[in-house]
Amino acid sequence: MFNVTRPEEIPQDLGNGKQYNKPEVVKALKKMFFGKCYLCERGNVEDPEIEHFLAQANGGGRVLWENLFYSCSRCNSIKSNKYNDLLDCTDDNIDVSAAIKLVMTVTPNDDVIVEAAIANPNAQVINTVKLLNECYNNQNTGLRGVSRESLIEQIYEYLIVFIQTRGLLKNPSTSEEREKEALGVLEKMMRPKHPFSAFWRWQYLGDSFLVDEYPELLNLLTD
Ligand SMILES: [Zn+2]
Repeated sequence: MFNVTRPEEIPQDLGNGKQYNKPEVVKALKKMFFGKCYLCERGNVEDPEIEHFLAQANGGGRVLWENLFYSCSRCNSIKSNKYNDLLDCTDDNIDVSAAIKLVMTVTPNDDVIVEAAIANPNAQVINTVKLLNECYNNQNTGLRGVSRESLIEQIYEYLIVFIQTRGLLKNPSTSEEREKEALGVLEKMMRPKHPFSAFWRWQYLGDSFLVDEYPELLNLLTD
């Protein structure tokens, strides 16, 4: 999960005829969430849906700007109205990517690891861990098996990029120019606008070679 800043300006059209899926609203949400699903962090979502953070069935505002999030259809259907009291990635008082650890396993069939990363996690963290665990790992129907496979393939491809880039940094014969370039790749991957950025944050933190040799990347995590 990654933090975003919600623009204060409410898109025109929101609320007209009680509709929330007007083009301007969708456009504003897409920009705000960098085109990423706020739950699974896939980028360039092809099947975007407007997600009500507090489900309408649970009293969430249908056309309330603060209640509208950008998600993929898989995550929206998994969340449905079953999950309330979640971490709010639009709240800049909470570093959501630090609160939940995400690790892509090296074998795609195994479950992605999703766990609370803070001592004494509150209900919001616990509920969000449960939901994200489902978003990444649920394959309880044939269709969810297929959508999970495509999601995992995307994370896996980026994991390979991360590991190859690390290899360049580790190789003593890599030129300074290429080293700089490689560092730029990791930096880019760890920024919130990159797909699955929370994974790359934890991939970096779990690698003492990278943390010891390139501590400057730590600054990105506290920006
Ligand atoms: Zn998603």
